[in-house]
Amino acid sequence: MGPVAVDDLSTAAELLRAATDVTLLAHVNPDADALGSALALGTALRRRGATVRVSFGMPAEIPRSLRDLDPEGLFVPAAELPMSAGLLVALDTGSQSRLGRLADRVPATVAAGGHVLVVDHHASNTGFGTHHVVDERAEATVVLVLRLLDELGTELDPHLARCLYAGLVMDTSMFRRARPETHRMAARLLDAGVDAEDLTRKLADSHPFSWCRMLSAVLGRARLEPDSAGGFGLVYTTVRLADMDGVGLEEVESVVDIVRTTVEAEVAAVLKEVAPGRWSGSLRAAGKVDVCAAALRLGGGGHRLAAGFTAPGSEDDIVAALRAALAEPVLI
Ligand code: MN
Repeated sequence: MGPVAVDDLSTAAELLRAATDVTLLAHVNPDADALGSALALGTALRRRGATVRVSFGMPAEIPRSLRDLDPEGLFVPAAELPMSAGLLVALDTGSQSRLGRLADRVPATVAAGGHVLVVDHHASNTGFGTHHVVDERAEATVVLVLRLLDELGTELDPHLARCLYAGLVMDTSMFRRARPETHRMAARLLDAGVDAEDLTRKLADSHPFSWCRMLSAVLGRARLEPDSAGGFGLVYTTVRLADMDGVGLEEVESVVDIVRTTVEAEVAAVLKEVAPGRWSGSLRAAGKVDVCAAALRLGGGGHRLAAGFTAPGSEDDIVAALRAALAEPVLI
C-alpha cells in the first residue's frame, strides 16, 4: 500500500460505535460497491440508533439498477444533504475530488471538529481522511465494510447481506477475479439470505431497449491499434452525447466490459462524452499493463487492471491523450 497510514479495524470501529450522527458518501456516479458499502454500513449504524444519511455528488437520484438496495430510504440527494459536525464516512472513494460537489464536506467536517473515515480499496487512494481503513488487496470495499461490521458485532440480515453481495459480485466481475476468501464471504452472504440470481439480474442483466441501439452505434466505431500501449495493443471506442439519448450513464458503463473482450488488445478504453467537450474514460487491462499508472498521467486513478479519468477536449484530443499516456506503459 502507498503513503496512506491505515488505522486498525478496532480504532475505526470505535469511531463508528461512538458516532450518533453519520453521513456516508459514495463516489460520484456510484456503482454497486460504493453504494452497497454505504448502505450496508449506514443501515448497521442506524440499527444501533445513530442518525444516518447516505449520499453522493451526482446524479440526483440512485441509479436505476441500484434502487432496490435502499428500501429503508437512507439516501438523501446531495442538494438536500445537511451540513453535520458528526462523522463523515467516504466509501470506495480514492480521492476527495471523487466526491464531486460533496468534496467540501471533508474540510467542513474537520473544521467543525468531526472525523472523516475513509474506507476504500483503491491503490491510488490519497489518504484524504482523518482515519483510514484502506486495503488495496481487498477485492471490493464491501469486503472492508464486512470486516467493520464483524468488529462492531453486527449480525448479518438479508438486507445487509444483499448490499454487500452487490458490491462483491460487481467488483469481482461476477467472481471472475475471486480468491478462496471471496467465495467464503459470498457463502456467508448467501447463508444470510441473499437471492443471488434476482440481485445479479437487476444489477447486471437489465437494460432498457435503448441500450441495444446505443451499443450498436458505439461498437460500430470501435478501433483496434495493435501497435499502441507499447505494442501490447489498444482497443477503444467513444460514446458521444448523441449516443446517450435515453440511455443512463450506468448503461454506458457496461460498454467497456464488451470492448475489453477483444483478444488482440491488452488495453481497452471507452471514452464517454459526459458533457460537451468533457470526457470520462474507462480503462481496462488484461493483465500486463498497469492502467492505473496511465490514468494517473491523465489526472485520474483506480486499480492496476481497471482505472478511469476525466478530461476536457475534442474526441480527437482525448484519443491522442490516451495514446500518449499509454505510449510507455508501466508493466505489472
Ligand atoms: Mn470498489
